Amino acid sequence: MARMMPPAIVILGAGALDTARRIQTLYADSQVHALQGRVEADVAYAELSPHLRDLYARGTPIVALCAAGIVIRCVAPLLSNKGAEPPVLAVAEDGSAVVPLLGGLAGVNVMAREIAAALAIPPAITTSGELRFGTCVLNPPDGYALADIGQGKRFVSDLLAGESTRVEGDAPWLDDAQLPRSPSARLAIRITPRAWNGRDDELVIHPRSVVAAVTPEAVASTPAQANTAATSTADKDAAAEIAARVRSSLEAHGLASLSLAALLGSSEHMAEPALAEAAALLNVPLRFTDCDAAIDESPASLLRAALRIPYETLHDDHVQGVALALSPLAVDPGTIGRARGRLTVIGLGPGSAELMVPAARKALDQATDILGYETYVKMAGPLRAGQRVHGTDNREEMQRARHAFELASAGRSVVMVSSGDPGVFAMAAAVLEALDASEDSAWAAVELSIVPGVSAAMATAAQAGAPLGHDFCMLSLSDNLKPWSIIEKRLRHAAQADLVMAFYNPISRARPWQLDKALDIVREYRAAHTQVVLGRDIGRPAATLRTVTLGELRSADVDMRTMLIVGSSTTRRFTRGAQWVYTPRWYE
Ligand code: SAH
Repeated sequence: MARMMPPAIVILGAGALDTARRIQTLYADSQVHALQGRVEADVAYAELSPHLRDLYARGTPIVALCAAGIVIRCVAPLLSNKGAEPPVLAVAEDGSAVVPLLGGLAGVNVMAREIAAALAIPPAITTSGELRFGTCVLNPPDGYALADIGQGKRFVSDLLAGESTRVEGDAPWLDDAQLPRSPSARLAIRITPRAWNGRDDELVIHPRSVVAAVTPEAVASTPAQANTAATSTADKDAAAEIAARVRSSLEAHGLASLSLAALLGSSEHMAEPALAEAAALLNVPLRFTDCDAAIDESPASLLRAALRIPYETLHDDHVQGVALALSPLAVDPGTIGRARGRLTVIGLGPGSAELMVPAARKALDQATDILGYETYVKMAGPLRAGQRVHGTDNREEMQRARHAFELASAGRSVVMVSSGDPGVFAMAAAVLEALDASEDSAWAAVELSIVPGVSAAMATAAQAGAPLGHDFCMLSLSDNLKPWSIIEKRLRHAAQADLVMAFYNPISRARPWQLDKALDIVREYRAAHTQVVLGRDIGRPAATLRTVTLGELRSADVDMRTMLIVGSSTTRRFTRGAQWVYTPRWYE
């Protein structure tokens, strides 16, 4: 079952660290986030307000060891949109108070009680239902869904007014609650997959216990557009049709759509965008199972192949392509068949977390497996304890690409890490090369996407000013994968064309003479006063930036962690406050 995300325990100063560490022991995989420069912990952040907003927006539970007012002001701009609200708590630095602030339906009071117990203090619970019953009846655990929040609130106020209730159905989480129970009560808490019939004297909670299998033969679908999140109109229509058929099957059996635990399809249809879109419309996970189409291609056969639990087939409509299975208990979608595997090739940017694009961070957060050169995987942290890291030597790129597809085609969520941009002298091309060479249909079914990053040339250029402000080219000086003669030819043409040149892989121990040779060629076409920018470890703690002239430049000034930008005839340097290098946008 999807467990709650581990909370971010956020502190401002060293005074809160002890309390933070005590709270941390309660939550596996949780991390202490500390203000950069003030105190060292697991994660450093630069500014409290944007950091809290970012955590909140990602749905991360927040335990902030500071004044409740500060926390409220920080997240306030996000509060009007009360969709999925993570738990947010303020805790006094010295551990003397814990105040649940937000996320009543996401278990904030449960966390407040846990933290308070660990700190041996009473929690500052303000929710009346909680105070009385010791639990929030409106907050059922994972695998269960409240039919209607409005009805739920009325129900709880009736209980608060002194009424008692019956419990009908299986609700083990209510066993410890101090609910005023009576078998003859007018009010009832009913745990049922059946749709709520509108009665006010029942609090209806649906166990997610129905699996809908679909065979979308009846529905036309087109292959996915490579690497886009956009779904075509035809697929959208097909998805709406699938979702409508599932909903009407549920309705025909009096089942609530909130009782749906998962949508199940045949592995053959894994790459069909209509199915993914239909699952999104129904707001349930999409799972797949292998099914021998030659023998039986009915939706009911998919259920038989995928379900390891006892269930009752309620609906098997071959023509509509929908079958429903009802289990007596909530179903964990993670146990049904398998998910469509995902491979996301990301760029970390040059090094610092601020220069990583949010889509890359998100992919890392969602990954089950992370692959890449060890140094980069370290840069990608902090990772969750459950995430599997497959570090490798930098050289085995094709092997790593194939490994990524093996994992992803088994249903894992794989992230392949590159530095800078993954498409610039990095893993994205290797991954596509591996896919291009493969006949494996399971590889083709993997949800592959590539997330761009800030490349070393861009990061270095921004530090220096705007040396890439006019036409430029990017060249790798490594002759590992291409003959040196090609490099010489391209250098000559680029130098002759007066392009600004960004050199990647300028030199290494295995390639000691190539850079001098390259510079000799450039000097045939460019004046000695040409501006050259040297960025080393840009975006990392040891970053250095230098500007020299082509005449002064020595290959000893350059190593494999350096980006070399050789200016054109118009690239200029000036000092106003700081020193800047830029290439004007115009040309004579
Ligand atoms: N995909 C990467 C490039 C990989 S090639 C990107 O888009 O940035 C590796 C080369 O990139 C290094 O030899 C160096 O020339 C350059 N490089 C990578 N990171 C750098 C950094 N932080 N500072 C300066 N140069 C860097």
